[in-house]
Amino acid sequence: MNIPKTSFPRVVIIGGGFAGLAAAKGLKNQEIQVVLIDKHNYHTFQPLLYQVATGGLEPDSIAYPLRKVIKNLPNFYFRLTEVLKMDSEKRKIHTTIGELKYNYLIIATGSKTNYFGNTNIEKYSMAMKNVPQSLNLRSLIIENFEDALLTKSFEKRNALMNFIIVGGGPTGVELAGALAEMKKGILPKDYPDLDIRQMQINIIQGSNRLLKAMSEKASEKAEDFLINLGVNIYKNAHVTDYDGYTISTNADLSFEAATVIWAAGVKGATINGLNNECVVERTERIKVDTFNKVKNHKNIFAIGDVACMDISGFPKGHPMMAQPAIQQGIHVAKNLIAELNNKEQKPFKYVDKGAMATIGRNKAVVDLKKIRFQGVFAWFVWMFVHLFSLIGFRNKTVVFFNWVYNYIRFDRETRLIIRPFKKRNKESF
Ligand SMILES: Cc1cc2nc3c(=O)[nH]c(=O)nc-3n(C[C@H](O)[C@H](O)[C@H](O)COP(=O)(O)OP(=O)(O)OC[C@H]3O[C@@H](n4cnc5c(N)ncnc54)[C@H](O)[C@@H]3O)c2cc1C
Repeated sequence: MNIPKTSFPRVVIIGGGFAGLAAAKGLKNQEIQVVLIDKHNYHTFQPLLYQVATGGLEPDSIAYPLRKVIKNLPNFYFRLTEVLKMDSEKRKIHTTIGELKYNYLIIATGSKTNYFGNTNIEKYSMAMKNVPQSLNLRSLIIENFEDALLTKSFEKRNALMNFIIVGGGPTGVELAGALAEMKKGILPKDYPDLDIRQMQINIIQGSNRLLKAMSEKASEKAEDFLINLGVNIYKNAHVTDYDGYTISTNADLSFEAATVIWAAGVKGATINGLNNECVVERTERIKVDTFNKVKNHKNIFAIGDVACMDISGFPKGHPMMAQPAIQQGIHVAKNLIAELNNKEQKPFKYVDKGAMATIGRNKAVVDLKKIRFQGVFAWFVWMFVHLFSLIGFRNKTVVFFNWVYNYIRFDRETRLIIRPFKKRNKESF
């Protein structure tokens, strides 16, 4: 992998997401060699992927080059590769560009879409976990309207204009709101010769309320906002199958739809080679102690979405969100420095800063520790927090001006098919 030999301990970090980057930044100015590895050469700000998928933002404004993060940091190296396997006995990782030995390994590989073993859903639905997937979704949405314009069949047009979002968490809610705004403000002007009223946006949610990780008030308000925007919400229904045309559920409910977006679950993106006893069965997250050390491995840490710390208050691990990932990254770096200096290490304590979701223009819900609010002010808070959290001055500026422009003009100008994407099915309609 062309990493120079060193007398310093080598720390290998797999993943340049929220957790991995926080850990890397925390290790600067130490007598350590740090090797950051990612299969993408950029960090992705996942909370805004839905805006890329719906033409509100260009992908470049929510991604940031990883090499730029570590430039000017002596003893820091970045390698663009996928880690395939680890060998904890030999203290080695295997990647697509070769092997690398480590003294300490930090696994920060995040999560991947969980289809709960349903191969049809995996094959025919759309996921939105990274930039390429969001661009695929953007292309598919627009292509569906182009096709709907040409077909003479009412049923086929219905399916092309029917959007099913499976999962009513923040991703599902935010995506539904953005699609509803496209239906209201953009698509009727883009397609004057198509009856846009035929477009349906549906959320199928397994439990009895949306945003179930937030307060009941936030769920109620989000539901009100979405219903007012014309979104259909189906609760207590589980999707059982999708053949690319018909989507069925365990309730008395089925749809014909060309686009099904699967936002119903994630699982840990573990690395092969870890013993089964280190991994939680269903969620595939790596079991760690309160120091983020992987069970039975003194020199391997797991942080962020991929880590499951079973402590009181969080029996299934911390929420798979940016804040726990960032906080664990910062904390693990401090503990590693303490370990190298023979100082005392401290257990991780999560500081819950709250949760928020936006439904659309002037509409958001915010749950902070002591206060909960919804509506216009919540929307401004949501925008401020997201803008502030983006990496890089350019990205912050571009996103800010895009949002101002979209707000004033009621527009989403990046509704472009840059790379066509087809996901057809049932004999391709
Ligand atoms: C659509 C969407 C919306 C979200 N909205 C919110 C929100 O509003 N608020 C919030 O707090 N959280 C939100 N989240 C969740 C949040 O983004 C995650 O919790 C957070 O990104 C976890 O950080 P992480 O560092 O653990 O993983 P990630 O940020 O996912 O980073 C993992 C990195 O590891 C790399 N990687 C994975 N496997 C390998 C491998 N084998 N080899 C090399 N590299 C690898 C990946 O390329 C990636 O860069 C959202 C997530 C999604 C998908």
